[in-house]
Amino acid sequence: DIDHLSGSVQFDDACFEYEPGRPVLHNINFTVEPGQMIALVGETGSGKSTIIKLISKFYLPTSGQILLDGIPTHDITSASLAQHLGIVLQNNFLFTGTVMDNIRVARHDATDEQVIDAVRRLDCLDLLEALPLGLRADVGERGGNLSLGQRQLVCFARAMLADPAILILDEATSSVDTITEARIQRSLARLLAGRTSFVVAHRLSTIRHADRVIVLRDGNLAEAGTHAQL
Ligand code: ATP
Ligand code: MG
Repeated sequence: DIDHLSGSVQFDDACFEYEPGRPVLHNINFTVEPGQMIALVGETGSGKSTIIKLISKFYLPTSGQILLDGIPTHDITSASLAQHLGIVLQNNFLFTGTVMDNIRVARHDATDEQVIDAVRRLDCLDLLEALPLGLRADVGERGGNLSLGQRQLVCFARAMLADPAILILDEATSSVDTITEARIQRSLARLLAGRTSFVVAHRLSTIRHADRVIVLRDGNLAEAGTHAQL
């Protein structure tokens, strides 16, 4: 098991194909330093989600390797990886129960105080306390009692509580009002601070904040630079 990950990520000539003879990633090479925020962009089908699936060892590369702190994902157990890597998906699942229950799935032994602290660190306690019963409000079936923004924040709070070295986030495309949007962006910045992050980014505001932007085109790494360089 790995006790500690500082969060460097390296793709070393990584290739991948879901079906034999039909490659979807071609010789991908890049290195990410601990703490960097990477925006992954590219057209639909370009390979963004596949990159994420390789980092999280959902699949192993067909050839080449992906290294976390210099260790090939091949040699890292899934249990070990789960401790150090967090994923926030676009439609992360909320189950029937309170907001608190839904946040606590990230760390079942967390106290109420630790859950509240995670929300506070996102600077969005007020947005969740606006619910009738605050953090003790029932989220409803699949989160139906919450606004889209609130659902997103519950997913952020889960990740904050888990506190992984590497965080992967598939940015939501759903539209919320400008003020909520600004609050979500602020909470996102707080969530990503101090950890390596990969954000499948749809919003220019997110791309602008990235340390580097990786552009994929038909499974090839087309460009990797800062937003200003691109
Ligand atoms: P989007 O923006 O639509 O989410 P993406 O950049 O995430 O697109 P991927 O999901 O990585 O794209 O897909 C890359 C390629 O791999 C596409 O050609 C897609 O059809 C193919 N692909 C993805 N998942 C599978 C699968 N499970 N089996 C076979 N082919 C797949
Ligand atoms: Mg995708």
